Amino acid sequence: MKILGNVIDDQGRCKHYFKKQDTISIKFKCCGEYYPCYKCHEENSNHKIQPWKKEDFHEKAIFCGVCKSELTIHEYMNHTNCKHCHTLFNPNCNKHFHIYFETDNNNPTCTF
Ligand SMILES: [Zn+2]
Ligand SMILES: [Zn+2]
Ligand SMILES: [Zn+2]
Repeated sequence: MKILGNVIDDQGRCKHYFKKQDTISIKFKCCGEYYPCYKCHEENSNHKIQPWKKEDFHEKAIFCGVCKSELTIHEYMNHTNCKHCHTLFNPNCNKHFHIYFETDNNNPTCTF
């Protein structure tokens, strides 16, 4: 799997998010490319992020950098760890869900 952006190790950490639990990369709906985070996408592409729609949540768009398997968006959002290797997802990522995925409670005042 090719991960674009500013990856700093072979488990999918990038220069923005490099804590122990930051091992997930996300495929972006807009370009179909995997990036470790939205900042990497912002700095390395020339277009706006298009969030995944709810009807697309069965698509495999999450890449576990530890066991190198792809998960669907559902499998990622509804679990706290990878179903294959049980690596914990970073719980703080859900603060940014509305950037990547269509949600019911988008918060337009959030400035990250
Ligand atoms: Zn894109
Ligand atoms: Zn990044
Ligand atoms: Zn895994």
